[in-house]
Amino acid sequence: MKPINHHLSDDILMAYSAATLPEAFNLMVASHVSLCDECRARLESFDAVGGAVLEDARTAPVALSEDALAATMALIASGDIDIGKAEAPPRKGGVLPGPLQDYVGGDLSAVKWRSVGMGVKQAILPTSKDASARLLLIPAGAAMPDHGHNGIEMTMVLQGAFIDDGVYFARGDVEIADSDLDHTPVADIGEDCICLAVTDGPLQFKALLPRIAQPFLRI
Ligand code: ZN
Ligand code: ZN
Repeated sequence: MKPINHHLSDDILMAYSAATLPEAFNLMVASHVSLCDECRARLESFDAVGGAVLEDARTAPVALSEDALAATMALIASGDIDIGKAEAPPRKGGVLPGPLQDYVGGDLSAVKWRSVGMGVKQAILPTSKDASARLLLIPAGAAMPDHGHNGIEMTMVLQGAFIDDGVYFARGDVEIADSDLDHTPVADIGEDCICLAVTDGPLQFKALLPRIAQPFLRI
């Protein structure tokens, strides 16, 4: 497998470790770390120090400070924390990572796709309402509809690749887009691009038709 170039951020891994993320984002993190040794190692570090950090937060009257991340990284770097060398979990074969296969009830053949026009298909995954998760299929060489975001959107490639503003994302790579980003990812011409996308706010599609259809499609 080719190396993964675009990873999860430390704050997202810490939030996952602290169990404060919406279910859809948990699914994204679990899926990425099942493919990515680097992020799984960082997550194990956060898991190891999590107890100590939370203990600090309980004894201090203020919430976790902005320095919490730096303090945590320093703790790991100091070598005082045994971060362990857990074995990598067994990887399920197929296009969908293990955690996604558990949601879908199988690999790609079990996905119930719905067409959203222009050859693009999606399958919404059942998660808690505070964020949404869906699988997207973008035909090779085709573009996602132009859209902005209300909240954070994370998109991980599972098959094929896409290019967004000159940056290439292949299997395992995660693009993190916030409400400032207006973008149009385009699938690479090699094969249809399949992604897991999670967002904590409804996307704001620009073209009239997608905007009308949005409440029905829930994208
Ligand atoms: Zn990673
Ligand atoms: Zn987007």
